[in-house]
Amino acid sequence: MASVDPAVRAAGARAAGARAVASEPRRKTVSNSFLHRLQRRHFLMFDVLPIAGTAAAVAFLWVQPLGVTEIALLFTFWLVTGLGISVGYHRLFTHRTFKSAPSAAAVLAVCGSMAGQGGVVSWVALHRRHHECSDREGDPHSPNLAGGGLRGRLRGLAHSHFLWMRRHEYPNVAHYAPDLIRNRPLMRVARRYHLWVVLGLLLPALVGGLAHRSWEGAVSGLLWGGLVRMFVLEHTIWAINSFLHMFGTRPYESRENSRNGGIFALLTFGESWHNNHHAFPDSPSFGLTWYRLDPGYWLIRILAAGGLARDIRLPSGQRRAAQRTGRREAAGLDPAT
Ligand SMILES: [Zn+2]
Ligand SMILES: [Zn+2]
Repeated sequence: MASVDPAVRAAGARAAGARAVASEPRRKTVSNSFLHRLQRRHFLMFDVLPIAGTAAAVAFLWVQPLGVTEIALLFTFWLVTGLGISVGYHRLFTHRTFKSAPSAAAVLAVCGSMAGQGGVVSWVALHRRHHECSDREGDPHSPNLAGGGLRGRLRGLAHSHFLWMRRHEYPNVAHYAPDLIRNRPLMRVARRYHLWVVLGLLLPALVGGLAHRSWEGAVSGLLWGGLVRMFVLEHTIWAINSFLHMFGTRPYESRENSRNGGIFALLTFGESWHNNHHAFPDSPSFGLTWYRLDPGYWLIRILAAGGLARDIRLPSGQRRAAQRTGRREAAGLDPAT
C-alpha cells in the first residue's frame, strides 16, 4: 500500500532538503522531487516487478512444473505476510486495536515488511491519512474522486487500485505516526525494511532449491513463494482500497463510501469487512460477530491465548445497533457525523 519505506523516507527528508518536515512539524503532507523519485523506484521494484515475476512464473512452468512445493510456498508466504499486514501493520500499528508483547509486535512487523508494501511507518501514516480523509480530498487512494459516469468510475478504480502509488503526496510521519517513531524496537525493524523484503524472496528460493535439489527448484521457489505471492497479496489488499470503496454492502453508517465484501473474507484475512472497519476502527475484530469469518482476528485471539496480546475490546451491541444504517437518520441525526 505504501510506496516509500521509513528509513528511506527519513534519509530522503534530510538529503532532499525536506526541511519543512522539521521546521513545520504540523504540516500534514510533504511533496518533493526526491520523494517522488523514491516512490517511482518503489513502485517499479515492488508493485510492477511482481506482475512481471508472475508472468515469468507461468513461463517457467515449462522448466519446472507446478508441484506441492510451489503451492505450499505460495500459500505459506501469502499467509505469513498477509497476516503481517492485516494484524501487524493494520490492526496493531495503525489502529492500536490491541496491545501486543514486544516479541510478537516485532515478528508481525517483520512479516508485514516481507510483503513489500512499504515500511511500517509510511504504511501506517498513509493509512491513517486514508481514515482521516476517506473519499474526500487528501485521501491517497479514493476511487470516488475521479468524476461521475462509467469513465470516471473506471478512472477512479484504476487510480485507487494501483496508479496512485506512482506518485502521491507523502503524509508527514511526524504528524501521522509519532507513536511509531518513538517506538525504538519497532524502528530497529523498520530501518531494515529492504532486508526483510529480500529475506521474503530468498527463503522460498532456499526451500525450493532444497526440496528439488536443483537451481530450477530455487528459481521456481523464488517465483511462486516470492513474486507470485507478492502479486496475489498486493492485489488483494489494493482491492480493499478500490473495489470496497465502491461496491458491496453497507450495514453501518460512516462518512465515507466503505463497503463490506463478505465473500472475500477468507481471502483477505477479514479485511473485506471494510465498512465494519471504517465504522469501528478501534475494533480488533473486523467481522464483529463470530460467524463473519475474520482470520486476522482469529490470530489475535490465538496470540491472546498464548499471553502475547491483551486489551482486546469489541464495540458493544448497543454501539453497533446505534450505528446501523438508517438508525441515525431515524433518530434525526446527521449520518455523516
Ligand atoms: Zn484501517
Ligand atoms: Zn478504506
